Amino acid sequence: MNIHEYQGKAILKSFGVRVQEGILAETPEEAVAAAQKLKEDFNSDWVVVKAQIHAGGRGKGGGVKLAKNHDQVKELTNQIIGMQLVTPQTGPEGKLVSKVLVAQDVYYPGESETKEYYMSVLLDRAKGRNIIMYSTEGGMDIEEVAHSTPDKIFKEDIDPKVGLQGFQARKIAFNLGTSGDAFKDMVKFITALYKAYEATDSSQFEINPVLKTSDNKILAVDAKVNLDDDALYRHADYAAMRDTAEKTQLKLKQAKATLTM
Ligand code: ADP
Ligand code: MG
Repeated sequence: MNIHEYQGKAILKSFGVRVQEGILAETPEEAVAAAQKLKEDFNSDWVVVKAQIHAGGRGKGGGVKLAKNHDQVKELTNQIIGMQLVTPQTGPEGKLVSKVLVAQDVYYPGESETKEYYMSVLLDRAKGRNIIMYSTEGGMDIEEVAHSTPDKIFKEDIDPKVGLQGFQARKIAFNLGTSGDAFKDMVKFITALYKAYEATDSSQFEINPVLKTSDNKILAVDAKVNLDDDALYRHADYAAMRDTAEKTQLKLKQAKATLTM
C-alpha cells in the first residue's frame, strides 16, 4: 500500500528519523495558516508547497514550488490543489491533487554547502534479505543514475539474523562522503531509518533526497513509503492511512477503460 509523503514522514518521525517538517493543507487559507505556524517554529517566511499524490517526480511536473511570502503560498496552493499533476510516474492522465504539504525550507544558506543523497531500504526478493541502496547522486531520477553512472550506486546487504550493524551504518555514511557532525548525524539517520523500516513491516522506504543542511544536519526531504499489504493487519493505524480518493480515481479510470474497450 502506497501512502502519501506527509504520512510517510509522520511514521519516520515517530521512529526518530529527522524530516523536513510540514503541515497538511486542503485550502489556500489553511496553507497560509500552516506557513504562519512554520514561521513561528523556524523563523523563515520561505516554505515549499508540495502536492500530495501517490507518485514521485512531482517537482518535475510542477507539483513542488517554493513560496517566499504568504501571498505566494496562497497563489501556489491555489494553483496546485485541483491540478491534474502529470509526472514521469503518473502516466499521461496525471493525478488529481487535493492536498498539499506546506513544508519547511531546509535549503537555507550557512556554514557549509547543502548536499543531496539518495537512500532506500528494500527487500531483495531473490535473496530474501533487506538491502540499503544509496548514492551520492540524490535528488535525481535514480533509474537515470543507475543507467548512466551505475558505479555511483552502492548496496549494503543486511543479515536478517543480526539486523543493521553499527559498522555498516558507518560505512554508508563514509561512502557518502560525510564527515564530522554530518557523519555522526548520518549514522543516526540510517540507524533510525532501518529501525522504522523493520518495525513497520514495510516493503520499501525511498528517501530522495536525503539532505545535509548547511548546518550539517541530515534529514528526509521526501519520503516514499510502501507498506506491505500482508502485514497491515498488524498495524491498524497504518491501514487507516489508505487514501480511498486515489483508489476511486483509479477505479473510475479502469471502469472507463472497460467502457471504451
Ligand atoms: P519529488 O521527488 O516528488 O519530485 P521531492 O520532495 O523530492 O518531490 O522534491 C523535489 C525537489 O524539490 C527536491 O529534490 C528538492 O531539491 C526540491 N526541494 C524540496 N524542498 C525544497 C526547499 N525547501 N527548497 C528548495 N528546494 C526544495
Ligand atoms: Mg523526491
